[in-house]
Amino acid sequence: MHVAIFGTGYVGLVSGTCLAEVGHEVTCVDVDQGKIEGLRQGIIPIYEPGLEPMVKANHAEGRLKFTTDAGEAIAGAEIIFIAVGTPPDEDGSADLQYVLAVARTIGRHLQAPAIVVDKSTVPVGTADKVRETIAGELAARGMDVVFDVVSNPEFLKEGAAVEDCMRPDRIVLGSSNPASIERLRKLYAPFNRSHDRIVVMDVRSAELTKYAANAMLATKISFMNEIARIAEAVGADVEHVRRGIGSDPRIGWHFIYPGAGYGGSCFPKDVQALARTAAQNGLDPLLLKAVEAVNERQKGHLFELVLRHYGGAAVLRGKTFAIWGLAFKPDTDDMREASSRRLLQQLWDAGAKVRAFDPEACDEARRIFGQRPDLVLCDAAEQALEGADALAVVTEWKQFRSPDFARLRQVLGDAVLFDGRNLYEPEDVEAAGIAYWAIGRGRSI
Ligand code: NAD
Repeated sequence: MHVAIFGTGYVGLVSGTCLAEVGHEVTCVDVDQGKIEGLRQGIIPIYEPGLEPMVKANHAEGRLKFTTDAGEAIAGAEIIFIAVGTPPDEDGSADLQYVLAVARTIGRHLQAPAIVVDKSTVPVGTADKVRETIAGELAARGMDVVFDVVSNPEFLKEGAAVEDCMRPDRIVLGSSNPASIERLRKLYAPFNRSHDRIVVMDVRSAELTKYAANAMLATKISFMNEIARIAEAVGADVEHVRRGIGSDPRIGWHFIYPGAGYGGSCFPKDVQALARTAAQNGLDPLLLKAVEAVNERQKGHLFELVLRHYGGAAVLRGKTFAIWGLAFKPDTDDMREASSRRLLQQLWDAGAKVRAFDPEACDEARRIFGQRPDLVLCDAAEQALEGADALAVVTEWKQFRSPDFARLRQVLGDAVLFDGRNLYEPEDVEAAGIAYWAIGRGRSI
């Protein structure tokens, strides 16, 4: 099938590549000329495991094209995806300017019947707005082209996006039009072979489903971070508590890891946007507000531990902190809303210096922070330790899991480790003569 995808970010590029991989003819459109030029030359703008070879192979075979020319992409496309960003607006609601700009573009270029599929995370009612916008543009051109708008929220996880796209848990389709559902079933058939993963519902429910999924996951994280706080206060170890509750299948093991708070481009903005939707409909979203508030507080928690260890901010002036991990989670270079950003800023505000290493996010950090005298971005974890007084681990990359504690003891001037992801056993760290501060491990605190 011929497909056009607007937006070549994490969602658009990965979805487009996976659709091409199973044989569809895909044209990816972006307004970012540099990104499109780069992609044509095989430069992949994001880090996702497995993505680069797939993009190159499908591009070389002619099934995956890149353009800034919306008209070219829309001509001949039976299915047109919207996969552009929906960042938070000033009041926390989703900013629909990019989604509606694409809708206008579609209305200006559409010549033949097509299904417009909204993959961006958008508030309930957006499909109606997209429909009205396209219809308005078609009317302005005096055109009468049949089109439908379907909601198809995306559930891929950064860091495992290709895998999630090739083997989705579920494919949610929101539409009341059986013909549209039938076309999309055909499009997704290669991803839906072993058992039926397609869940069909009305458009509004599909739009809400995406927010409910992210809000549920964020809730689990904030819940666990709250338990971690209590554990710290009462002298319990949240890691024992986690093992004790995760074994209950009603609770499960996923998303019950306490840490330095959730970040990324989705949870923070989606929890806010859902709360906004509730408020706009006269509801007081008590739980969502608490989930967000707990997370905001938690992002500052590593620095609180730093203050507790050093007995205040005054001593931090002139200290050097090694930071392991900048991305908001492992296996991605994405630093949007990352907890590391809060910690870095707090350390800088206190007059400390930072030597940071992340396996994938150093370029992104360079782009965000530019050149500054109190930041050195390093090429290796070991290099970040040179001349450092303390180490803080902020992202749980696998390569940080088994450090040589004896070596850390030698190099860290103040022999202290702040672990924002509970990667280590307190006994192992302390046996090496290093003070260990982790999340919710009252035993060591
Ligand atoms: P992104 O910021 O990585 O990419 C968006 C892309 O859209 C950019 O390349 C931008 O240049 C392009 N764009 C903006 N306006 C355009 C236009 N008019 N025409 C063509 N391209 C345009 O965003 P993302 O992370 O891929 O997220 C896209 C949507 O998917 C968001 O709504 C997000 O909430 C949702 N989502 C994201 C994830 C994730 O893990 N990143 C997962 C599920 C859903």
